[in-house]
Amino acid sequence: MLQELKPISTIASQVQASTTLVIDSMFKEMKAAGVDVVGFGAGEPDFPTPEHIKQAGISAIESNKTKYTPASGMMELKKAACYRLEQDFGLHYEPSSIVVASGAKHAIYIALMVLCNPGDEVVIAAPYWVSYSEMVKQAGAVPVIVAAGEEQHFKITAEQLEAAITDKTKVFMLNSPSNPTGMVYSRAELQAIADVCVKHNIYVIADDIYTSLVYDGIECTSIATLGEEIKRRCIVINGVSKSYAMTGWRIGYACAEPSIAKIMSNYLSHSTSAPSTISQVAAIEALTGPQEDIEEMRKAFQARRDHLVERMNQIEGISCIKPQGAFYVMMNMKNFLGKTMYGQKIESDTDFARLFLEKGLVATVPCESFAAPGFVRWSYATSMSDIDKGIDRLEQFIKNA
Ligand code: PMP
Ligand code: GLU
Repeated sequence: MLQELKPISTIASQVQASTTLVIDSMFKEMKAAGVDVVGFGAGEPDFPTPEHIKQAGISAIESNKTKYTPASGMMELKKAACYRLEQDFGLHYEPSSIVVASGAKHAIYIALMVLCNPGDEVVIAAPYWVSYSEMVKQAGAVPVIVAAGEEQHFKITAEQLEAAITDKTKVFMLNSPSNPTGMVYSRAELQAIADVCVKHNIYVIADDIYTSLVYDGIECTSIATLGEEIKRRCIVINGVSKSYAMTGWRIGYACAEPSIAKIMSNYLSHSTSAPSTISQVAAIEALTGPQEDIEEMRKAFQARRDHLVERMNQIEGISCIKPQGAFYVMMNMKNFLGKTMYGQKIESDTDFARLFLEKGLVATVPCESFAAPGFVRWSYATSMSDIDKGIDRLEQFIKNA
């Protein structure tokens, strides 16, 4: 009889797997096994990384840029990030404020580790990207979810935020344009939120990863531009994964007060040592090189969004509101709750999405884990023909149920 092992960390055992990545690996496994499945799961641009960026990576290898860099990234990349933020948002940071990490996800994780004491509360605007709550828990902090429904266009108000603030609140997590909703907070909405954060002296992790993906010419504001007091409290997150189709290169960055950036850098020095040097060189090219490719991709996403939303809203029992940014649509499937499909009772969006994958051969993400029950997220970072195929299959899936 083997001796029982000691229990693992209590904090670690509370952390759930990422739904988005679980769905994505199921989809990729089915595809590899030859199943004709269509994927709207993970939010990952289908475009290849633009050629000039790939070439920068190749020449980094060829010119032996293959050694460690400073823990929080190469100076040239920090300058490139500052340049991009200035160009895109008029947001001014010095390189001493920039911390480069292995993806924006990692930058958020490090920010939470650096800001939170055990037991601190982190208010998360919901629907929210599934990793936020789990990263907060990994930091020993407590997620406090403040949700906005479809009738509020999935955007929480400053009043809702203020009502959730307690003595323990340390951080507010904001994502605009949002994953999973695609909604964009207006300048006025952000100003009201910023005022509350300054009044109660709380930090904001402003996940701006989708800011270059907004449609119909609407304005996209970074909350950090709304005054010096809010900027001091912001950790702005951005990166190259989504805008430059570089998800696999794993480069993201955080911008913070230099004193906070320094501690984040210390953390990195003991965990990853530094992000991949080759990827950093490619990211410099992405941020400072020609930007035409992103504009092309943005236009393609807009056309796909229009098509997906239009077709989805023609299906009886299904609806969605039109998102303004990112590349996600929230499909409202509440009409199917409690119904029986293919001999199975649909108790939740997870049941629906599971059955849709099994019987309809379409991968989507149920939104229960985004704190948005009754919705299923479609990522339209995929081709027009796949969008048509996915919607055709949805029609059949519902008809044959
Ligand atoms: N924030 C949001 C809202 C995201 O959807 C993603 C996508 N994974 C990230 C951050 C992380 O991006 P990265 O791939 O750079 O880690
Ligand atoms: N952010 C993307 C998504 O939500 C990629 C997967 C992940 O990192 O969660 O699908």
